[in-house]
Amino acid sequence: MSDTAQQLSERFISLTGREPDGLWSAPGRVNLIGEHTDYNEGFVLPFAIDRRTRAAVGLRTDRVIRVTSTFDDTSVEFQLTELDAAHTAGHIVGWSAYPLGVAWALGQHGADLTTVPGVDIIIDSTVPVGAGLSSSAAIESSVALALNALWSLGFSREKLAQVGQLAENEVVGAPTGIMDQSASLLGESDSAVFLDCRSLDVAVVPLGLAQAELSILVMDTRVSHSHATGGYAERRAACEAGAAAMGATSLRDVNVSDLDRARELLDDVTFRRVRHVVTENQRVLDTVRVLNEEGPLAIGALLDASHLSMRDDFEISIPELDLAVETAQAHGAIGARMTGGGFGGAAIALVPYESVAEIENAVKEAFAARGFAEPVTFTVTPSTGAERNNTE
Ligand code: ADP
Ligand code: MG
Repeated sequence: MSDTAQQLSERFISLTGREPDGLWSAPGRVNLIGEHTDYNEGFVLPFAIDRRTRAAVGLRTDRVIRVTSTFDDTSVEFQLTELDAAHTAGHIVGWSAYPLGVAWALGQHGADLTTVPGVDIIIDSTVPVGAGLSSSAAIESSVALALNALWSLGFSREKLAQVGQLAENEVVGAPTGIMDQSASLLGESDSAVFLDCRSLDVAVVPLGLAQAELSILVMDTRVSHSHATGGYAERRAACEAGAAAMGATSLRDVNVSDLDRARELLDDVTFRRVRHVVTENQRVLDTVRVLNEEGPLAIGALLDASHLSMRDDFEISIPELDLAVETAQAHGAIGARMTGGGFGGAAIALVPYESVAEIENAVKEAFAARGFAEPVTFTVTPSTGAERNNTE
């Protein structure tokens, strides 16, 4: 079980002998729509969820950064002045790369790691790992917000998102975009974060789920995926090749009206990869417009179309994800789609409150009937982004 705020403070006291200077927390995220659009300089629409990582943080009198997780109760420490050399030497490994990577990345963005005081950081999380809910960004964002305050850096949340991404790209070594950190830092209650991955412009879009009495059900297939698999690299390469053949710097500059030309220029596989990204960008824009004009009950068809595009054109779904989506749709979901990078992970469904239990049962039964491992299902609530919390 994860710690309450008070338990985490007590844990900090027993580890360090003093009170933390504060508690910060940051959420994981779910992407409502906009998949594989981020690295094509397109649009995404994630929201922050009610599963959070907390960080209890206190300044030290020396220049050591020590990070501890309730995950495995291990601690890792470095001199702040040695972080850069440790990173270059490949000595920052395992989970500690997330919080230590943030400290390093703050240095890259202008924090003077030779003068800031050392810190003790204990993290504790209710974001499940590897379910596609970005437990990683939750760590990065909570630690970034805490160090920004305790080191008096004055960085904006947008900049802290870039800090988290830099940590993940360079120190963890995962080639991810800026979506996860943006959702975790900029999310608001019952709202999504509309992000233009080219300009990095951000707008908070009210979802209105509470008023429409809708839940978002996560159906985690428990099939694990990895960014390291060839499928992800192949998709990125196809997008780049498609854009180049179309004379565009990125698929962001290819529109739905250009698809006839794309079909003539490109081989079938590359064309379908391109069509997914181009139509998905349009679906994100349409979802934002429909949310604003009609509300969440009207976005179901866009979610459904997004899933079919990933299944048939981008070819990143798996039978478990398709089954979860189809079963939810058959049992009253407004719309459903796989979410995340694909080849495993979770699907989401937009579901009337009264249908949640029925859909959860139906999905579990359908998985059992097909001989698939039992999925884990739970609802998530679009929630506030990273914040400082009271210590009790
Ligand atoms: P996701 O972000 O989708 O959950 P990632 O592979 O990006 O998956 O990040 C998961 C990694 O984040 C874990 O392998 C671990 O290194 C780290 N992590 C997540 N939660 C914690 C935690 N509570 N304590 C320490 N490390 C964690
Ligand atoms: Mg992650």
